[in-house]
Amino acid sequence: QEFLAYFDDHCQRSKQLSDEAGQFIPGGVQHNLAFNYPFPMAIEKTDSAYLWDVDGNRYIDFLQAGGPTLLGSNYEPVRRKVFEMLETCGPVTGLFHEYELKLAQLVNRLMPAVEMFRMLGSGTEGVMAAIRAARAFTKKRYVIKVGGAYHGWSDSMVYGLHVPGTGRLESTGIPRGGTSSTEEIFPNSLADLKRHLILNRLRGGTAAVIVEPLGPESGTRPVPYDFNQKVRELCDEFGALLIFDEVVTGFRVGLGGAQGYFGIKPDLTVFGKCITGGYPMAGGVGGRADVIRCFAAGIGGTGERAYIGGTLSANPLSCVAGYHSLLELERTNAPVIAGRAGDRLTQGLQVLIDKYSLPFVTYNQGSIVHLETSGVMLLDLRNPIRLARELKPRKRMMEEMGAAYMSQGLITLAGSRMYTSLADTDEVIDDALGKFETVLA
Ligand code: PLP
Repeated sequence: QEFLAYFDDHCQRSKQLSDEAGQFIPGGVQHNLAFNYPFPMAIEKTDSAYLWDVDGNRYIDFLQAGGPTLLGSNYEPVRRKVFEMLETCGPVTGLFHEYELKLAQLVNRLMPAVEMFRMLGSGTEGVMAAIRAARAFTKKRYVIKVGGAYHGWSDSMVYGLHVPGTGRLESTGIPRGGTSSTEEIFPNSLADLKRHLILNRLRGGTAAVIVEPLGPESGTRPVPYDFNQKVRELCDEFGALLIFDEVVTGFRVGLGGAQGYFGIKPDLTVFGKCITGGYPMAGGVGGRADVIRCFAAGIGGTGERAYIGGTLSANPLSCVAGYHSLLELERTNAPVIAGRAGDRLTQGLQVLIDKYSLPFVTYNQGSIVHLETSGVMLLDLRNPIRLARELKPRKRMMEEMGAAYMSQGLITLAGSRMYTSLADTDEVIDDALGKFETVLA
């Protein structure tokens, strides 16, 4: 209650806008990560580590739109390149542009397993395309995902979300057939994966295994270090393709992505978020040339076998933004610098957890920082009813914590995750820790 008073006192214009938005926009906001508790803040301005709302309040931005702005918000050198492209070419032509090639070449240099690359509109589309390619190439049926992992919102992947390992559908509106070729294993269970691979051999085979390489929900349930290697070996044994969903990890955990970090060569890689540095139409799929070739496109081209499309995909603005963002990440060493900021934030949060004896755990994978109720690590995944009962209050509590942090000028992802960026200097992190302490105390 004490923290909620802030919103009524300081956020009048946001309140007015959000009241009105509730009539025209379902839930009053368009973005799944927008806080609508107690009501949504309307953001007006962004710069480096900060956001400002329409009432002029400043926030440290640890949401980073869910991860794409690793260079910090509204990063000037990339913005300039996008403006130049807008002035010369406009936003879209539907034809070929040199920057499509430059971006594909650069992705290949940073991630050699990505021999060929197709730019798409979102991570969700990238996952859909990867699955289609895997089925086209292997002629097999099933796709196996890890319980609790998020791979976007396509029919076949909104599956068991937030309820790891239970196989429970999160979304209504999906026909039974929409998920009948998707299987979900218990998080990080190689034994369960092997069981599914064996069973599937008798009924159409496994086209692909898709993983978030740090573990479900961007590492909220982290993988043992050798997990991905073991998955690679099982995929090879059973003739399934390995898809790394690097929508979050791509270029963030290192310029070579999680595949560089773990030293693993996936068959296919899905991109999103950092692939355009936060500019629109951020998605893609790449990998082995013999697989990705099925997407050969264009009028009078080499004949497509697996159809994917997108009116605005690979437009010149997305490609120039992506190309220069990746070059800037390399030039500034942003993944490492943001990772150090993540270390500093995590260490500071651990001090606060100890100081106030809080039932939380904090850990980071470079610039991805988690602050969880310790219970989430210990959830009994084999008891779906109890699991759902335990997760619900946790979710509510983290949302309330998130609102409390916001009242102090900190924006997090649902109160439990923080992305750090190149803009997060020691001063920014120490300022943030002071604000966290006000709430955690
Ligand atoms: N895959 C992962 C691992 C993600 O975290 C997300 C989005 O958060 C997606 C796929 C979907 O990407 P998009 O939101 O661009 O559709």
